Amino acid sequence: MEQWQHILKKSLIKPQQFSEEFGLDTDKLAQVMTEYPARINPYFLRLIKEKDDPIYRQVVPDEQEINDYVGVDDPLNEEGGSPVPSVVHRYEDRALLMVTHQCPVYCRFCTRKRFVGKEPISREMVRKGINYIREHDEIKDVILSGGDPLILKDREIEEILKALREIPHLEVIRIGTRVPGALPQRVTKKLCSMLKKYHPLYVNINFIHPREITDEVAVACGRLADAGIPLGSQTVLLKGINDDPETIKELMQKLLAIRVKPYYLYQADLTRGTEHLRTPVECGLNIIKALQGRISGMAIPKFVIDLPGGGGKIPLLPPDFVMEINENEVIARNHNDTVYRYPQPDAEKVSCD
Ligand SMILES: *Cc1c(COP(=O)(O)O)cnc(C)c1O
Ligand code: SF4
Repeated sequence: MEQWQHILKKSLIKPQQFSEEFGLDTDKLAQVMTEYPARINPYFLRLIKEKDDPIYRQVVPDEQEINDYVGVDDPLNEEGGSPVPSVVHRYEDRALLMVTHQCPVYCRFCTRKRFVGKEPISREMVRKGINYIREHDEIKDVILSGGDPLILKDREIEEILKALREIPHLEVIRIGTRVPGALPQRVTKKLCSMLKKYHPLYVNINFIHPREITDEVAVACGRLADAGIPLGSQTVLLKGINDDPETIKELMQKLLAIRVKPYYLYQADLTRGTEHLRTPVECGLNIIKALQGRISGMAIPKFVIDLPGGGGKIPLLPPDFVMEINENEVIARNHNDTVYRYPQPDAEKVSCD
């Protein structure tokens, strides 16, 4: 067994272990955890400094999860967009391929709470998903997801990547993962030298709070980047965890410094069991407004909402910057509240379809 597998094996997973570690009521924990499994591996556990801190709230089960009458099990209607059980095909040229139901920790805010840690995804289901992708030549980009793909063994990941690379119409493979930030020991040199055989490969990593950027995480991301893999981040805005400009600013700057390019900042989905963590949309808009012009443009993610029912992602922009666009000019306000005018080209000479 590799070192990371030993670490994972020592995770807290039982209600009894959680009540001993955090002084919580075992029966209440058991009620939540039958509905939504929990796991905190010893590496991530060490990041918790005190009860209710931003790391604690991400992974310690909360009674409010089973008293949510707003959220729904499958807020993005992924099942409706699923031609075979392991694939979600919502956009013409891209598809998600779910390869496992396991993760390095079980995030309380997870959009796939309905199945992570519960309903296994079999190798047969993955094989059928790969067949679907092979039969659909409009798919150019596959995103390995789950669960967390990097929780699989090297051999299992390679089997999937190899099968995908044999599909001629497939151009880009992406992996969506929380492993580099939640179990960085798993990002071994061996894993990286295997991954680099399957380029163009992109890895998008889930990061929530600046305290997750440790020395171990910097090493893990450095290894992936040295293997030529462009790294992006995905962050969900969560109430009482990261919902203020200072925290997001620090996170984004730290990510850029470990070679991770901020990609998406998500408005939380309407997932059952997560209502207590949802922020108003204005909160994200204020954060983007606070970052624009104040930190490196490289460090500013796109703020998006994944529309309920499977509408897909759309960008949300603070309304303050563009005041008016007409045929003569754009009237805009910059980050210092100064108004500028950008003249349009002569309308008779130029047109834009
Ligand atoms: C988010 C998502 C994608 C990828 O979207 P990008 O904007 O290209 O990153 C693809 N398919 C589904 C179903 C998704 O939810
Ligand atoms: S690692 Fe990803 S899939 Fe797994 S519980 Fe966290 S958010 Fe959900």
